[in-house]
Amino acid sequence: MARYYFTRWLLSSALLVVLSACAGAQQTGPTVRTEAPPATPIPAPPLTAPAPLPVRVAPTRPDGPKLWPTTSFRGADFIDVRDIAKRFGLKADWVKGKPAMTISDKNGVRFTFEEKQHDFYFDGLRIFLGEAPVQEKDTLWLTKLDVIKTVAPLFRPADHAALLPAALPKVIVLDPGHGGIDPGTENKKLKLNEKSLALDVSLRLKKILESRGWQVLLTRTDDRELSKYKTVDLQMRADFANKQKADLFLSIHFNAADEAVRGVEVYSLPAQFMLSSGSTKEDDRTKQSYPNNRFDYANLLLGSELHRAMISSLKASDRGYKRARWGVLLQAECPAALVECAYLSNDAEARRAGTPEYRQKIAEALATGLQNYSATLEALRPKPTVPAEPTGTSGAAKAKK
Ligand SMILES: [Zn+2]
Repeated sequence: MARYYFTRWLLSSALLVVLSACAGAQQTGPTVRTEAPPATPIPAPPLTAPAPLPVRVAPTRPDGPKLWPTTSFRGADFIDVRDIAKRFGLKADWVKGKPAMTISDKNGVRFTFEEKQHDFYFDGLRIFLGEAPVQEKDTLWLTKLDVIKTVAPLFRPADHAALLPAALPKVIVLDPGHGGIDPGTENKKLKLNEKSLALDVSLRLKKILESRGWQVLLTRTDDRELSKYKTVDLQMRADFANKQKADLFLSIHFNAADEAVRGVEVYSLPAQFMLSSGSTKEDDRTKQSYPNNRFDYANLLLGSELHRAMISSLKASDRGYKRARWGVLLQAECPAALVECAYLSNDAEARRAGTPEYRQKIAEALATGLQNYSATLEALRPKPTVPAEPTGTSGAAKAKK
């Protein structure tokens, strides 16, 4: 647990960092961060995930929709962390001396929530809420929106099976970020740029997925922009996926921030009314519902499976599964995610990303995440009830009666 808090301290320091130059992907991206950058250098996040990731297990059977007990205060609806535990059949406990609660089963801690921390841990994976938990009336509260759009579907995807795509994904559009006049983020010292690395990872991923029977299309297969105008360029990438009637859309990027920051981030679109990760205020777009919001639950499943696979196989620092209104995601008419594979602003990580071996590892991790997403959908599909074949004698005996 001490390691958890050390990690938490490091990560919350890193949270203050203003997001990425890679936000070239953004144009109409998430709310501008209001936090001031820290005056002191940011310590490097730990190299390993805070807790070992468990083996993936098949989702539990659905137990039908139920209403959550909510309490309204400070102008919002909240749910008691103890009620979340009760619903899951688990146990909630305070962490000694901290404004934090855990939810555990017989095998140990499954969730950790802390007052004023936008991120929480689920089975060792770092996930961001729209709003930080609030401590009041001797308990910890999460907003209803965060519970129904993130916490509950993460823990019980089976409860939300009716809201997930019925068909398994076959056609995927990969979107290598930037290109042509837009290099994305660059590490000039190491002569690396985002547009080339993103294309290389996309081509490697295409090869892996095709060998596993997927149909794969790319928004660009060489070094070119789709439009000279960034907003149009981003819109054209989603339009391409929509025209191809893609079952999935995955935009591939590399990131930049202060030199000390490194690791992996995965994004999907925030639900309507949910704040983008790291922002503290609503803006004009918070209240809007975009075409991609029809896939909120599939986006969460896709994003969290990609994130789990990347953290587990790359052994990279966990920068979190986040939500942001990236321009390239808004109009996608299928489940969609955006991955930031590494920080080119961190020389050690950029050097790694500069090797074909590491980019192959990234592509394999992404392929694993996509396969796991598909496997979960398959596990949740209603099974057709096949009538039992009558066996020789007993069947004949019945027929005679
Ligand atoms: Zn980018």
